[in-house]
Amino acid sequence: MSYNVTIAVAKGRTLEAVRQRWLECGWDWPESSNSRQLWFPPDRARPGLIVARGADIPMLVQRGIAEFGIVGLDMLREHPTDGVLEVLDLDVAHCRLALAGAKMEWPDGPARIATKYQRVARDFFRRRSHPVEIVPLSGSLELAPAIGLAPYIVDVVQTGATLKAHGLYEISTVFHSSARLIANAAVWRTGNGMLSVYEQWKAVTGR
Ligand code: AMP
Repeated sequence: MSYNVTIAVAKGRTLEAVRQRWLECGWDWPESSNSRQLWFPPDRARPGLIVARGADIPMLVQRGIAEFGIVGLDMLREHPTDGVLEVLDLDVAHCRLALAGAKMEWPDGPARIATKYQRVARDFFRRRSHPVEIVPLSGSLELAPAIGLAPYIVDVVQTGATLKAHGLYEISTVFHSSARLIANAAVWRTGNGMLSVYEQWKAVTGR
């Protein structure tokens, strides 16, 4: 019998962390002769695998391109997507979203924040009734204070080494994140081939 579901996994740290759990599920890890290969159809030894940007994973699952997705909670909060269910905390790729700045001080007056998490950052300040100006920036966040783009950033932190290397302080934690298994809600309800894959993940996360 062949697997008939595909899992879209966020590239980078999530993919690295998921590899071990995937093997524990008893599935072959798709080895490519070409490391740029990003799509592996399902076969007898494992579900299919799509490797994509974290921000795109919820959309790929919503459209049914993949029945399952694996992506950080940070991305799910930033890209809330109808028709997608969060079904399991995989307890890997732990990190936190944090407010950081050049001084260990809460912003005085309107806060200018460089971030790729525009929705998350806006919500964080709205909940505190603190005025905020969001500066969208898709990478090299740590540079924003030094180059005068914005005195504060909201970004992903794991060990804190990146912030430290750029002389930045972690002022406040926005929320803690880990990799989540998400599913296409419509297909999930029909149960077609998805339950056994879900049970497998559940067994290896010990939940
Ligand atoms: P660190 O220096 O360990 O605090 O790592 C911070 C950098 O690694 C940030 O710039 C993030 O972009 C990236 N990073 C850390 N953890 C994750 C994660 N779980 N998922 C995606 N990116 C991460």
